[in-house]
Formats: sequence, structure tokens, C-alpha cells
Amino acid sequence: MYEKKGVVRSVGAAHSFSPVAKPEQHLVSLHHMRGLLDVDAVTQQATFWGGTYLHEVGPILARYNLALENMGDIAEQTIAGAISTGTHGTGLKLTSLSNQVVKWGFIDGQGSYRK
Ligand SMILES: Cc1cc2nc3c(=O)[nH]c(=O)nc-3n(C[C@H](O)[C@H](O)[C@H](O)COP(=O)(O)OP(=O)(O)OC[C@H]3O[C@@H](n4cnc5c(N)ncnc54)[C@H](O)[C@@H]3O)c2cc1C
Repeated sequence: MYEKKGVVRSVGAAHSFSPVAKPEQHLVSLHHMRGLLDVDAVTQQATFWGGTYLHEVGPILARYNLALENMGDIAEQTIAGAISTGTHGTGLKLTSLSNQVVKWGFIDGQGSYRK
């Protein structure tokens, strides 16, 4: 098994204004972990890989007559990056993208998958 100690930072689209996604030592990109995993037509909920770009989400959801409630003017971000930073669109009565999340799965610092 390959084992090397160090600080790992995940990166989405690296589209943040600040260097929050800049790696100190190791960088992990989810660029190839993109797309739809599941759609529930009854609850109108969809499960995506975290590396999916926001501009990919709309066309995929449209096949199921679904859509995001709101988006920003830029859609280059990934789902994981946008939700991690509280990315929002416009509108006083519309919330951030993170508020549309009902469930989240992730790998913790010990390498275990949690959901
Ligand atoms: C031109 C421009 C326009 C913008 N417009 C808006 C706007 O309209 N509204 C708004 O709210 N924001 C806006 N932003 C900010 C931008 O949407 C956010 O900074 C968003 O985080 C970018 O997503 P990203 O995928 O590039 O994330 P990154 O910048 O790559 O990462 C952001 C954070 O998420 C973490 N992260 C990323 N992927 C993962 C993962 N898989 N697992 C764990 N952690 C992860 C990173 O480590 C980092 O801490 C804009 C930025 C720019 C440059």
C-alpha cells in the first residue's frame, strides 16, 4: 500500500477569489468524479458526484424536468467547491446553493466514507 504523510487539499474548479483551494503539499482534484449518480422522481432529489461542474448540472436535471432553484452568473464552479464556500445566486428570497443540499457523503481524514 502506498503511504505518505502530508496535508492534502481538495480542489474544485479553483475558481475562488481567494487561495482557499491552493495546496500546501498535496492536491486532490475531483475533475473525473463528475455526473449524476441517482434521481428520485418522487422527492425530486438528485445525487451528483462532488466534482460535477455547475454548468453540467442544469442540462442533466432538465432530462428529468428538474432544475436548481437558483444559480450565480458564473457556472464554472464544482458542486463541492460552491457548497463549501456558500456560493449563492441573486434574489432576496433565494438561499445559497448549500441550502439545496439534503444529504452529503464524504471521505474523512482517516479514509472512511461517511454519509
Ligand atoms: C468571476 C467569479 C465570479 C463568481 N461569482 C460568484 C457568485 O455569483 N456568487 C457566489 O456566491 N460566488 C461567486 N464566486 C465565488 C465562487 O463561486 C466560489 O469561490 C466557489 O467556491 C468556487 O467553486 P470551485 O469549485 O472553484 O471551488 P474551489 O475554489 O476549487 O474550492 C473552494 C473550497 O472548497 C474546497 N473543496 C473543493 N472541492 C472539494 C471537495 N471535493 N471536497 C472537499 N473540499 C473541497 C476547497 O479545498 C476550497 O476550500 C465567483 C468567483 C469568481 C472568480
